[in-house]
Amino acid sequence: MKLFETHAHLDLPDFNKDREALITKCFSSGIEYIINIGFNKETSLNSLELANKHTHIFATAGYHPHDATDFDAELIKRLAREKKVVAIGEIGLDFFRNLSPYTVQREVFANQAHLAVAYDLPVVIHNRDAHQECYRILKEEEVKHAVFHCFTGDIIFAEQVLEAGWMISFTGAITYANSKLEDVIRMVPMDRFMIETDCPYLPPVPHRGERNSPLFLHLVAEKIAEIKEITPVEVAQHAFDNAYKFFRIPAEPVKTLTKSGSKRKTRERKTKK
Ligand SMILES: [Zn+2]
Repeated sequence: MKLFETHAHLDLPDFNKDREALITKCFSSGIEYIINIGFNKETSLNSLELANKHTHIFATAGYHPHDATDFDAELIKRLAREKKVVAIGEIGLDFFRNLSPYTVQREVFANQAHLAVAYDLPVVIHNRDAHQECYRILKEEEVKHAVFHCFTGDIIFAEQVLEAGWMISFTGAITYANSKLEDVIRMVPMDRFMIETDCPYLPPVPHRGERNSPLFLHLVAEKIAEIKEITPVEVAQHAFDNAYKFFRIPAEPVKTLTKSGSKRKTRERKTKK
């Protein structure tokens, strides 16, 4: 099975002991590409560093709603020009844990969505109990390319997301007994979903309580296959193709030894206050 891990946090201390060995194991166990996700200054920088070390790892840069009060637009602009940064994320709204004030969350999310459009990058969305607010801000900022990471909405919201042209991504949470995503998985078209582990978080069954890693990604594909009544290989292949296209993975390996230039043509507009 050829797999594309679209959401990992391999830069986190959870992987300090065996990071490189684990990455080697992933790439020899069917994982072809990994997107390592930033969520604040430190993890965005560390994600890029990891991506620059490994041809088949790419990075994202962004401020998660929990870290919204630290938002630094200049850092995001700088990272958005890096060759191995393929998306802005994870950004969004979290009205469940509410670690930052609503107003700051909204403003920082809108700002980063705006930057993503300006730099012609897709966005990775973190949305917790904020479906309609996320939808509204993405629409206002005219975001065309977005993926709802670890999708948790109902079928009505899924239809809304698909209608807007955005993607839906599933984690190991779909293997949990309390998962309510069966209907969404059944209806999502084959060209509109991706798979991810969100490791070290959300280990799929039967690994709950363990550290999650891309090595468990096949369990997500298998669960989707079971619900859609197709083979895991078909699920993995479609998810792979969708991710490859969504993140615009370059056909040629990116050279990362040279000083980072400005390969992307930016259409940067004035950033909103
Ligand atoms: Zn994440």
